[in-house]
Amino acid sequence: LDAGEFRRQGRQVADFIADYYARIEDYPVRRAVAPGFLAEKLLETAPSSPLEPNALAAALRDVRELILPGITHWQSPRHFAHFSATASNVGALGEALAAGLNINPYTWAASPAATELEVVVTDWLGKALHLPEKLLFGGGGGGGGTLLGTSCEAMLCVIVAARDEKLAVIGDLVVYFSDQTHFSFKKAARIAGIRRGNCREIPTPREDAFALTAAALIAAVNADVAAGRVPLLLCATVGTTATAAVDPVRELCAAVEGRGVWVHVDAAYAGAACVCPEHRHVIAGATSVDSLSTNPHKWLLANMDCCALCVSRPATLGTDDDVILKDAAARARGVVVDYKDWQVSLSRRFRALKLWLVLRCHGVDGLRDVVRGHVRMAASFERMVRADPRFEVPVPRRFALVCFRLRDAEDSKGAHGEFTVSSNEANRRLLEALCAAVEGRGVWVHVDAAYAGAACVCPEHRHVIAGATSVDSLSINPHKWLLANMD
Ligand code: PLP
Repeated sequence: LDAGEFRRQGRQVADFIADYYARIEDYPVRRAVAPGFLAEKLLETAPSSPLEPNALAAALRDVRELILPGITHWQSPRHFAHFSATASNVGALGEALAAGLNINPYTWAASPAATELEVVVTDWLGKALHLPEKLLFGGGGGGGGTLLGTSCEAMLCVIVAARDEKLAVIGDLVVYFSDQTHFSFKKAARIAGIRRGNCREIPTPREDAFALTAAALIAAVNADVAAGRVPLLLCATVGTTATAAVDPVRELCAAVEGRGVWVHVDAAYAGAACVCPEHRHVIAGATSVDSLSTNPHKWLLANMDCCALCVSRPATLGTDDDVILKDAAARARGVVVDYKDWQVSLSRRFRALKLWLVLRCHGVDGLRDVVRGHVRMAASFERMVRADPRFEVPVPRRFALVCFRLRDAEDSKGAHGEFTVSSNEANRRLLEALCAAVEGRGVWVHVDAAYAGAACVCPEHRHVIAGATSVDSLSINPHKWLLANMD
C-alpha cells in the first residue's frame, strides 16, 4: 500500500461518501430496475489494465452513475423497510480502519490486540445491555462473547454446539421455535443436520401477541419425549421480525428446565433496547439461557456487519483440534481466546475495532439517546395512526416498530367508501402506494398554496416552497393576496 497514494485516494472516497450523505434525500429510496440492468452497462470481463490513468476517480464515477441508481438507499431518512441498519460516522470509519489494517485475527497469536479488544468490547456491550454475567468473560463463570457477521451464523454455531453435546442419534434431535422466529433459524437447523420433520414450529395466536407460550412449548416437548425423540434446543426471540413480539424468556426457560435443552435468545433487533433500563425487562430471566445474540448493526450505530454472540460455555462451540495454528504455550495456560474456534469459518474480520469505536465515541448514554429517540418517534407515529379512523394498530407497538394497516373493509364501510375491497387487497394497495411514494414515483404530490403562495414573490419567503421541484402540481389563489379580484 502506497501511503501517499492512499492518502490521496482516501480523500476522494471520503469526499464521495460525504457528498452522498449530503444528497441522500434526493435519491428515490428504491429505484425500480430491471434484472440485468447493471450487467449490461459494465464490461463483460475485468479490464486487463486500468481503464484510465486515474482509475479510482473513474471507478467512483461509475459508482455514482451506474451503481447508485440501482441501490436501495437504506440510510435515507425515508427508508422504513426491514429493520433499520443504523450507521454512524465512527461506525463507517471503524470499518475503514479495520479494512486498512487488514488483519486476520483468527487466533490470539495471529493478532493479540484484536482478540483482546474483542474480549473487552463484547463485555462492554454485554454490560451496557445488562446481559447475565454468565454470558460475559468478566462474569467469572467461563462465559464470553464474540463478534460474527450475522444472527444466522450465530444460530448455526449454537445449534452445532448443542448437537455435539448431546449423546443421541441426530435423527432424533428436535429444535423448538415459534412461527414468528426468523426463517434463518430453520435454515441453520437444517444445515446443522436436524431433520425437517424435527423442526418444531409452534403456533403463536394473536391473543398472545404472537409470543411463544410456555404451555405450548411444554406440550410440544412432552409429545416428542413420549415419541422417543430428544429435545435439543429452543430458540426464543426477543423482538420478532414481523411484530417485535417478545417471547417470555423466563417462563420458557422454566418450561424446559432439567431437560437438557439449550436455550438460545435471538435478540437481533431488540437486544439494543436493553441499553435503556426501561426496556431491560424483556430479557429478565435470561440468567438461565445458554446463549444470546444481538446485532449492533441493526440498532446500535455499528455499520454492517456486526452480530454479538454471547455464550455461557464457549468451549462447547469449539473445534480446537488443529495442530497448525495452536499456540500451545498460551493455550496450556488457558489464558487466551482463539476466536476461530467460536465460529464456522477460520478467517475473520476485525469487527471489534468498529464496535469499540462506536462505544468509545458515543458512550452508552449516546446509544441510549438513539434508542429513546427512535422509540419516541415511533410512539408519536403510533398516536397519529391511532387518531386516524382509517387505520388500526393490530398489535401493540414494541420498541420502535409500529405495525399498522387499513381497518378492514367491513369496519370502514360507509364512512370510508373508498375501501370497499377486501382488507388484504386494500392493504396491499396501500403498501404499494407507500413504496411508490418513497421511490419518488407513482404518487402525485400536490401543493395547496392558496394563500401563502403569494408570499413567494418575496425572496425572503421562498423557502416555504423549497423542494417543490419534485411536486407534480401546485395551486395558488391570486385573488387572495395578489391584487387579483375574485376569482
Ligand atoms: N432474527 C431476527 C429476529 C431478525 O429480525 C433478523 C433480521 O431481521 C434475523 C434474525 C437475521 O439477522 P441476520 O441478517 O443478522 O442474520
